[in-house]
Amino acid sequence: MWPVRGFMHTMLLAAEEERLAPLVSLEGQSEKPRLCLHVCCGVCASVALERLVGRYDVIAYWYNPNLSPADEYAARLAAARECCDYFGVVLVEGSEDSEAWLEAVKGLEKEPEGGRRCVECFRFRLSAAASWAEGQECRWLATTLTAGPQKDVAVVHELGRQIAEGSGLEWLEETFRKSGGAHRAALLARELGLYRQDYCGCAFSLAEKQARRGR
Ligand code: SF4
Repeated sequence: MWPVRGFMHTMLLAAEEERLAPLVSLEGQSEKPRLCLHVCCGVCASVALERLVGRYDVIAYWYNPNLSPADEYAARLAAARECCDYFGVVLVEGSEDSEAWLEAVKGLEKEPEGGRRCVECFRFRLSAAASWAEGQECRWLATTLTAGPQKDVAVVHELGRQIAEGSGLEWLEETFRKSGGAHRAALLARELGLYRQDYCGCAFSLAEKQARRGR
């Protein structure tokens, strides 16, 4: 179990305005249950959307203030938009509050990728997605983070369960990289011409990658 830290309260208050935004219209959709899919990038979204759109009324929610620098943020967001357009899914963009994210991971800057900083990074993004989904009458919450080959999906699912439950949502415990999902995401990304990143996303992971390459 991971306790919810105090700063999250501040962040969630900041997200309240977005959460209370008018319901996103999914005109023409059936009676399928509404699911908010937190989207981290276009590549991971591809396989997740391919597996979800027939079963749920999916709204994609972009919330990744961890991404740095700005041109990387823009490239990943553009790829996420292209991918959602391809699957006919609405993508709602959350705020780009990098200061709040830096505060969330304060003191953990030197952690290696896959360490405690990543736990807080997942928590931060999933909490914002849950808070937003709550105001959108979603029943389910899921994340494309489980399509990433390097992500600790046990941590993502444990956090997701806790956070979804706290927001009155159900957590979709689906690991999109399984059953050939990682390979399928790579194929779809190539087919759709999506931008493919080569590091996790934050400035610290970029520095780690550069240090590895410099060795
Ligand atoms: S390495 Fe990736 S998951 Fe970890 S803190 Fe950075 S962006 Fe978040």
